[in-house]
Formats: sequence, C-alpha cells, structure tokens
Amino acid sequence: MYVILLGPPGTGKGTQAKLIAERLGLAHVSTGDMFREAVAQGTELGRQAKAYMDRGELVPDEVTIGMLEERVRQPDAQRGVVFDGYPRTLQQAKALDAALQRQGKSADIALHINASDDELVRRLGGRWLCPSCGEIYHEQSRPPRQAGVCDNCGGKLSQREDDKAEVVRQRLQKQRPPAGMLDYYRTQGKLADVDGQQDIDTVTRELLEAISRTAAAAKS
Ligand code: AMP
Repeated sequence: MYVILLGPPGTGKGTQAKLIAERLGLAHVSTGDMFREAVAQGTELGRQAKAYMDRGELVPDEVTIGMLEERVRQPDAQRGVVFDGYPRTLQQAKALDAALQRQGKSADIALHINASDDELVRRLGGRWLCPSCGEIYHEQSRPPRQAGVCDNCGGKLSQREDDKAEVVRQRLQKQRPPAGMLDYYRTQGKLADVDGQQDIDTVTRELLEAISRTAAAAKS
C-alpha cells in the first residue's frame, strides 16, 4: 500500500503519518525529516536544502525528487510507504508515480488534510518536538507530561527554526498544496479530503477509514 498525505504545514501530517505507518506496518517517509537530518549531519544535500528551509520555501524539485527516488528504492519501502510532506508540486507527484511504476507499483490513495490559516498558525506556533526520537507535541492539544521533556525517551524538546512566526507565514503562503497537484490525484479518483481541524484521534480514524475503503475497492 502506498499512501500519500497532502496538506499545508501544521495539519498534523507528521503525527498522522507516524500513527498510520505503525498501524498498517508501512514505512514512514518524510522528506522534511530527511532534509533536517541532512542539515544536522552537514552533508552537501543539507547545505543545499538549508537556505530554502530557513526561508520557509520549497527545496527545488531537482534536489527533492532525486532524494525521494533513492529512498523508495530502499528495502523497507518495498512493503509500502506513508509519504509525509511529499509530493508538494505536480512535478514531484508525477516523479513519484514514475518511480513507483519502475518497481511495478503505484500510489493507492492521496489523503488531503486541510485546515484554516488561523488554525495552522496557532498550531505551528505551539509545536515542540524531540530531536532524539522524533516525537511531536503541542502546547495545547498534545502537551508532554512534563514541560520540555519527551514522554518517550526523556529527551529535551525543542522548537523547529521554521516554526517561528515570520517563517510560518511564509510557509503557509508558499506551501499550500497547488490546485494542479490536487487535481492530478482527483482525476485519477485517488483524492480523499479529511478535515484536519478535528481532534487527532478523529482525524486518524477518518484517514484509516478512507484507506480501508480504497483497499476494499482494489480487492473487489
Ligand atoms: P516539513 O517538515 O514537511 O514541513 O518540511 C520542512 C521543510 O523542508 C519545508 O519547509 C521545505 O523547505 C522542505 N521540504 C520538505 N519536503 C519537501 C518537498 N517535498 N519539496 C520541497 N521542499 C520540501
């Protein structure tokens, strides 16, 4: 099963992708996490990506697509993937299809999680994450048991550089899924919309229901 999560920053794609991947036994592929790792390791890829990330802009397709193509060839991606934060452009969507097709596979469903700008600004501003294990928290909707400390591993929580107010506005302006990309999946009958303003459990349930419907339709 190849599941794509689409939506502007702050809709909970990362949180949901992790839950769904675990539940369905799929690999979780987040291009944002891959870029952050590359930046932390000081690789050439990280150097290229950092300037764009700091400005809240998309990393160019040439760089992003190459990285993604290599990732989907890895052994753990063969049993299926939840894509989180990829694709973000029509060109990326087409490149993903081509990459999967080369392996005799195809994307099954694109889940579009949406929310209003006001809600997204509020969420991104209160987001904290654990640099050690990747767990995501929110001051209001998902606070850690002890402020600033990860429930899972005891790591010290930090805020992403690009979750600061000025960059958040840039990200929302430049990173809403383009209509052409949504249409690309809609015309293939693969797009499902989910209201991201509901609580986390409800969103997870609706995403899993949409995935089950697709899986059932594919079997019949
Ligand atoms: P995210 O964690 O998904 O919000 O991604 C963090 C940052 O990484 C984004 O603001 C972009 O600068 C970059 N990025 C992540 N995924 C992509 C992508 N598919 N295409 C271009 N840039 C990306």
